[in-house]
Amino acid sequence: MATPVTLIAGDGIGPNITDATVRVLEAAGADVEWDRQAAGAGAVPTHGDPMPDATLDSIRRTRVALKGPLETPVGEGFRSVNVALRKSFDLYANVRPAHVIMRGGKFDKVDIVLVRENTEGLYIGIEHYVRIGDDPRAVAESLAVITRFGSQRVIRYAFEYAVAHGRRKVTLVHKANILKYSQGLFLEVGREIAKEYAGRVEFEEQIIDAMAMKLVLYPERFDVIVTTNLFGDILSDLISGLVGGLGLAPGANIGASAAIFEAVHGTAPDIAGKGVANPGALILAACLMLDHLGDRDRANRIREALEATIQEGRVLTRDLGGTASTQEFADAVIARL
Ligand code: NAD
Repeated sequence: MATPVTLIAGDGIGPNITDATVRVLEAAGADVEWDRQAAGAGAVPTHGDPMPDATLDSIRRTRVALKGPLETPVGEGFRSVNVALRKSFDLYANVRPAHVIMRGGKFDKVDIVLVRENTEGLYIGIEHYVRIGDDPRAVAESLAVITRFGSQRVIRYAFEYAVAHGRRKVTLVHKANILKYSQGLFLEVGREIAKEYAGRVEFEEQIIDAMAMKLVLYPERFDVIVTTNLFGDILSDLISGLVGGLGLAPGANIGASAAIFEAVHGTAPDIAGKGVANPGALILAACLMLDHLGDRDRANRIREALEATIQEGRVLTRDLGGTASTQEFADAVIARL
């Protein structure tokens, strides 16, 4: 029976790259049944809300979503789309695989999967000012909250990912030398969990500042990386920069009750409506979704077709130096399938 998947086309370049991605998946014979739902700025005129309840209900039912980029409308009364999704589905792990597809550069051997904790740390939003005398903003405080439970589930996810994907090493990135309590707890949990995987997955610890240097000098030494929210936010962009930027960077948001797959990039307002966006990142995100659904062979077949199309260099979108449209690129991938 076909697996139901919530499909959110999104805003800007979203509908165009989503169409291309759906065509590629259908050409590959993926056994999914799309439940099309609205979200983002495009949903406001029809639903009065950038994250309509019907869309959340659909994800609750299917537990899997493929999502185009969303613009969160600015204005009072509108909820932030990403916050609504993260909260509703407790999306605790943000997973970003990165490797070079267009070879011939300095970072050809990079093949890294970054697992970022997505719900805790400095991003929990507990912040306040302290008044001193007549200055209401004399001091600002932001609380970083790390829990044993939150650390355990994301670190275990990283190790399980390593086992499931035949990866050799997990590197835990921290700043426990200075932030002895919050970062110290994350590291302590990492060391405990690593023992369960001894002999199967190698474990390594790196301090964030040294890690930033090492990722630039010899990124090929790293495999799976797990880290807290803020460090993960920064390192994931650093890593996508190493492998050629946004056009080919997919991401997965894994939660206790659902998983949402998307491109790392946004709605690209500067090229929206022109039909020239690179659908590669969303196609690769759809491959992560097929992996998640247990359809690894089909996901690998699509990845191989996409990589071969790019490496051949005949049909490329503008961001990769070509002249092809979004749909022409998708057609070239489909022809290879
Ligand atoms: P962006 O990622 O949309 O664009 C940055 C640059 O990369 C632009 O020059 C754009 O043309 C280019 N680019 C992005 N994707 C591309 C693609 N597939 N092919 C070719 N070129 C591509 O970032 P931004 O301009 O900062 O954000 C625009 C909007 O997207 C904002 O409203 C932001 O909130 C939203 N956004 C949403 C998500 C999401 O839904 N997950 C993520 C990031 C940004």
